[in-house]
Amino acid sequence: MSPTGGALVLVGTPIGNLGDLSRRAAEELGRVDAVACEDTRRTGRLLAHLGVRAPALLVVNDHTEAGAVREVLARLDRGQRVAVVTDAGMPGISDPGERLVAAAAAAGHRVEVVPGPSAALTALVASGLPTGRFVFEGFLPRKGSGRSERLAAVAAERRTVVLYEAPHRLARTLADLAEVCGPDRRVVLARELTKLHEELWRGRLADAVARCDEVEPRGEHVVVLDGAPATPPAEDDAILAALAAAREGGASTRDAVDAVAAALGVPRRRVYRLALSG
Ligand code: SAM
Repeated sequence: MSPTGGALVLVGTPIGNLGDLSRRAAEELGRVDAVACEDTRRTGRLLAHLGVRAPALLVVNDHTEAGAVREVLARLDRGQRVAVVTDAGMPGISDPGERLVAAAAAAGHRVEVVPGPSAALTALVASGLPTGRFVFEGFLPRKGSGRSERLAAVAAERRTVVLYEAPHRLARTLADLAEVCGPDRRVVLARELTKLHEELWRGRLADAVARCDEVEPRGEHVVVLDGAPATPPAEDDAILAALAAAREGGASTRDAVDAVAAALGVPRRRVYRLALSG
């Protein structure tokens, strides 16, 4: 419980359709002492649309979040309620919020959430791809080893993967995904969700790349990627053939067993048993 009665309140806002703002979100924004937001003009317009009196607006974005933490903590210490909103969707999801929550929690303040839409979950549930287990990757790093390492991890991921991407980078990212995942991996491009031009395109990575070549992507996109297929367990015949090939190459039984077990991803014990039976 907050030592002062202050609370940090994360408020989800629409990702396109103003009708998605909940009554509770409107009530909360109407009663807080301050709103931490990315863009005061944009949030000012939202508050005007709701017809609520404008509380103090604090700017919190990637550049100001550290400074904003001090200001927000000072207000919480004085017993104020401070809302956090971003330009769209849920704060803290590829948007500012995480640091504010961590700092408020560490200082013993109450943290509340008024949940609202998030493009990631909206796209996932509309995708038709498995929803039981999924991972959120947000925006991939733009370049360098950070990008290639994350692409490799995405390619190997068995769960459905949800990615954000800017329209002018979408073609490059889809081409990179096709390269690491193969052209046949299923993908869904969820565009302009909840807006007038909402569109869900479903297909294979190779087709998605071709489509971006034909029509320049516009608007906001979420990429929902099917998980990597489970590797079918190696058949005994395949293991025996690999063992024979390794031995023909001059490997000892022990080395051949080690190499085949590693290459086919099967337990060494099983390969050894087959090597003795062969
Ligand atoms: N916090 C937001 C959320 O909860 O979804 C995400 C903010 S992030 C800076 C912006 C990215 O979210 C966009 O580049 C796009 O990938 C995705 N996005 C946001 N609104 C969207 C929409 N209406 N349709 C599709 N994607 C959207």
